[in-house]
Amino acid sequence: MTTTLRTTTPAVAAEGLVKVYGSGDTAVRALDGVSIEFGAGRFTAIMGPSGSGKSTLMHCAAGLDTVDGGTIRLYDRDGAATELTALGDRALTRLRRHRIGFVFQAFNLLPTLTAEQNMNLPLELAGRHADPQWRRTLVDVLGIAGRLGHRPAQLSGGQQQRVAVARALLPRPDVVFADEPTGNLDSRSGQELLGFLRRSVRELGQTVVMVTHDPVAAAFADRVVLLVDGRLAGEIVEPTAEDVLDRLKRLGG
Ligand code: ADP
Repeated sequence: MTTTLRTTTPAVAAEGLVKVYGSGDTAVRALDGVSIEFGAGRFTAIMGPSGSGKSTLMHCAAGLDTVDGGTIRLYDRDGAATELTALGDRALTRLRRHRIGFVFQAFNLLPTLTAEQNMNLPLELAGRHADPQWRRTLVDVLGIAGRLGHRPAQLSGGQQQRVAVARALLPRPDVVFADEPTGNLDSRSGQELLGFLRRSVRELGQTVVMVTHDPVAAAFADRVVLLVDGRLAGEIVEPTAEDVLDRLKRLGG
């Protein structure tokens, strides 16, 4: 029997997720019956040894990849659910554009656009306008006011990732998924970025789900969920880096 790791009010609820890559003898069950909820207004880190299914879980939960079994529901701020796993391609693209924010390890800023243009791009693609006050708050908190006219090549890695975070948060998505967001940053810039993600949850009410292999990064989250071989292997609430390291060691990570 698998258990579901539940939270008080979910932003995302996944039930019985199965994802298989390949077929026959070489098939890999990247997700093998994962049931989990990610809390609204919470910062959750997904951890586990390399190859345990962290990225697959994130990609499926974010509607970037399809599942072979199970359901995924995304809840809006009023608690209304949309079943991602029942949507066609077009509806899914639209949902991602309007309701989900992404931060990737590689920043993924467009080199010919300024920081400001990069930041505005998702909203423009969705045909929407930024709330000016929200925009000011983000720019202030992220400390990028003086960099908005610069192109990515004129910015440090830390600044580029802060622009990428502003881009993800500006549309006020129901959830932000971050995939190893500090993977390309030095430790100081990485800690600043994680500190901001935590503030965005605690002070601005954002929901953040982050994949990381770094126990120090995971300790910025409210909760760590652990995966091993495509299955849930437990959780740590209010984790410290030592707690996470210790659990990973015992899991063979
Ligand atoms: P993690 O993020 O924890 O390192 P992944 O989710 O990337 O793990 O991978 C889980 C398992 O699925 C691994 O065994 C990996 O080799 C396999 N896998 C992931 N993506 C693919 C793919 N596109 N094709 C085939 N196998 C894949």
